[in-house]
Amino acid sequence: MEVCKYKRIILKVSGEALAGDNGFGIDFDVATRIAIEIKELVDMGVEIGVVVGGGNIWRGRSGKGMDRATADYMGMLATCINALALQDSLENVGVHTRVQTAIEMKEIAEPFIRRRAMRHLEKGRVVIFAAGTGNPYFSTDTTAALRAAEMEVDVILLAKKVDGVYDKDPHKYNDAIKFDNLSHMEVLEKGLQVMDSTAASLCMDNNIPILVFGLDNPGNIKKAIMGEKLGTLISSK
Ligand code: UDP
Repeated sequence: MEVCKYKRIILKVSGEALAGDNGFGIDFDVATRIAIEIKELVDMGVEIGVVVGGGNIWRGRSGKGMDRATADYMGMLATCINALALQDSLENVGVHTRVQTAIEMKEIAEPFIRRRAMRHLEKGRVVIFAAGTGNPYFSTDTTAALRAAEMEVDVILLAKKVDGVYDKDPHKYNDAIKFDNLSHMEVLEKGLQVMDSTAASLCMDNNIPILVFGLDNPGNIKKAIMGEKLGTLISSK
């Protein structure tokens, strides 16, 4: 019997990750791959909440000249599109799911209700949290931090296009150095672009570890759960 390091997790899937190499929209091969990896964990008894981003469709800050709150609501709606796509991919591989949205749209998903979400997790259903926090001026990283605290998870798995946290953008600089371990405070002090400061400080205040890793290598989500060394672990140290 395989021993998991973490019993209950939040997996943050950014919009960028879902877009695959296209950079925009949803790559269903990627969605299916993520779904298969999630299924493996569900079968191992791990309780999983998924927070989806929306950047592959729309980001609030893309709305040049727009009212910021309106642009952010568009971003939150984008996360709902991704949530339904991921739900479909998960159901195709036989995983029971519920989508819960922070903005009510009860014809297509449940509203976010903490106790209900907890119950779904206990029953082995994957809960996909959509529409961010429901508030403009926030991000889905902050949503991941918030839901992680509310769901009392052991860790946030932050699945990215890059395989960890670097001192500078590894796509632009060959000499970028990857960190194995960081504290939340270091992320804030060094201004590392791994997540926004609201999300990082929420995790710091609530002592929630974050494992940042690359989604490009199949099997990485399971490796992360089994406690294998990969990516960058952000914790209180
Ligand atoms: N958003 C928001 N409030 C939230 C979460 C998200 O206003 O609580 C909006 C914001 O405009 C953001 C967009 O939704 O740019 C998409 O989310 P995010 O950029 O975090 O997605 P990711 O980068 O993870 O794909």
